[in-house]
Amino acid sequence: MASMLEENGGGAEATNPEPQGPGRSIVRWGQHHAGARELASLYSPGKRCQEWLSVILCFSLMAFNFIHLLANFHLGHLWFILLSILAGILTADFASGLVHWGADTWGSVDLPVFGKAFIRPFREHHIDPTAITRHDFIETNGDNCMLTIVPLANMAFNFLTLSPAEIYHIYPWYCYLFALAIFVTLTNQIHKWSHTYFGLPPPVVLLQDWHIILPRKHHRIHHVSPHETYFCITTGWLNYPLEKIGFWRNLEDLIQGVTGEKPRADDLKWAHKVK
Ligand SMILES: [Zn+2]
Ligand SMILES: [Zn+2]
Repeated sequence: MASMLEENGGGAEATNPEPQGPGRSIVRWGQHHAGARELASLYSPGKRCQEWLSVILCFSLMAFNFIHLLANFHLGHLWFILLSILAGILTADFASGLVHWGADTWGSVDLPVFGKAFIRPFREHHIDPTAITRHDFIETNGDNCMLTIVPLANMAFNFLTLSPAEIYHIYPWYCYLFALAIFVTLTNQIHKWSHTYFGLPPPVVLLQDWHIILPRKHHRIHHVSPHETYFCITTGWLNYPLEKIGFWRNLEDLIQGVTGEKPRADDLKWAHKVK
C-alpha cells in the first residue's frame, strides 16, 4: 500500500470536534488542535541538528561494539547472553516507562532549553498521537540515540584498551549493556509502529502480535485521557504488574506530598489550549 493510514491511538477521542456555541467548534485532538500546531512549530533547526548527530554517533558506536562482541564470543557465554538480553529488554521497558512518566507528569514546555527540546514531543504526542507517524527516522529516533551514546562510547573505549582476559571477564555485563542500549535506542521506533495501522512490514506485525514489542491495542490504554497509566513503551511487559501495584500513582502521591506540585498540570494546560 503506497500511503500509510494511521489511527489516532486515542480510540474514540481522536479528532472529535467539540461543539462550542451555535455553529462553532474547537478541535479536541489531532494535528489541527491549536496546541498541537504550536508545539509542532517549536521543532527547531538546532534540535534537528542534535538529532542527526545523535543518530550518526549512536549507530556507528553500535556497529563498532557489535563487531567486538562477535570477535570476543565464547560458547561458554551462551546462557549469559540469553539472560542478558532478557534482562536488557526488561530494564529498557522499565526505563521507557520512567522517562515517559516523568515527562508526561512533571515539568513544562516553558522550562529553558530542556522544555522545548525534550518535553515538547511528549505534549504534542497526547494531543496529536498520529504526529509521530509523520515524523521521519531522525526525528523519531534522535533523542533515544542520544541517551545511549555515552555508555556505548565507554564500551568501545574499553574494547580498545582492555586485555583479552579482562574482556572475557566483563563480557556478560557488556551483553546486558548492549541489549539495553539496543532496546532503549529502538523504543520510539517501536512506539511509532504501535500507532501505525497500515503499511507495517509483516515481521513487525508478527512481533506485535506475539507481544515481543509494544502491541497497538496494548498502547491504546495509555492514550485515554488523562494519560496516567501504561507508560512503558518498549515491550509493555511491565505495564500490567506496575498498574497492579499502583506504582505510578504511589510515586505521584509521594512527589506531590513532598513538593506540592500537581501531576500532569502542564499536559492538561496544552490539552485545553484553544488558540
Ligand atoms: Zn504519554
Ligand atoms: Zn503513544
